Amino acid sequence: MKKRVQSPSSIILYRQCPRKYYYKYIVGLPESPSIHLVRGKIAHEVLEHFFDIDTNDINMQNYELKLKEIVQNDLLKYWQKYDQQLKSLGLVDDKLKFYFQETMMMLLNWLESFFNKIKSFDSLSFKEIFKKLTPLREQHFLSKELNVQGFIDTIEQHDNEIHIMDYKTSSHFDMSEDYRLQLGIYALLYQYKYKRTPHKAGIYFLRYKPKYIKVDKDLLNYAQMEIRSIHINTASQDIKDYPKKESGLCKYSSGQCDFYDFCFKK
Ligand code: SF4
Repeated sequence: MKKRVQSPSSIILYRQCPRKYYYKYIVGLPESPSIHLVRGKIAHEVLEHFFDIDTNDINMQNYELKLKEIVQNDLLKYWQKYDQQLKSLGLVDDKLKFYFQETMMMLLNWLESFFNKIKSFDSLSFKEIFKKLTPLREQHFLSKELNVQGFIDTIEQHDNEIHIMDYKTSSHFDMSEDYRLQLGIYALLYQYKYKRTPHKAGIYFLRYKPKYIKVDKDLLNYAQMEIRSIHINTASQDIKDYPKKESGLCKYSSGQCDFYDFCFKK
């Protein structure tokens, strides 16, 4: 049988619960959208398009005000674009307002760290600095050798270093094992495509600040090993080969796993 193309999300999902992987990727059952998923998409779109702005009216005197206005207007625009999806979540207006304001706070927090980068330059115009700080965005990587694909949020060049970065709206501020693996897989995809290794990989924790890890042999070997094992573990189509891994992700105070009913009531 042809190997399935995996992604960091599918690999991480398998590690969380093989049965959940089975329902999502083998059977193809849909997952319910959640506010966290939808607002994550909105925040990603605002940040992706942020670097497309017209910088003609912006200079070193007015950039803070101008960029704040742009981010605020863009959040409003993309929030409206997702209006139907947001409404379909069935949240009361106050809850939606809360998530809107929280997302705004995260984006403005990210912008503060962007201002610090701008301030680290001297004797360049705003236009030149902005150009230097504009990363490659939403890059799709597909390796036929690894049978893995993924989208890297930003690829940044800092002097002679390459940093690959992911945005997270998560309330946690720790480089969990799942995040480490996700970054390792991105680094490996980058290495396969460009025949060079990125120097660092990191996460913009939008509520807090960025965190980085060094891309070294251990990280790349770890990613390679996990990719090898997912292909072996998911060769079967038989539910018996995908054991349930019960954990706090089955049922929690504000909800339950999308496949809980399939798992425990049928
Ligand atoms: S309910 Fe629990 S055991 Fe069942 S698929 Fe979801 S996470 Fe896995």
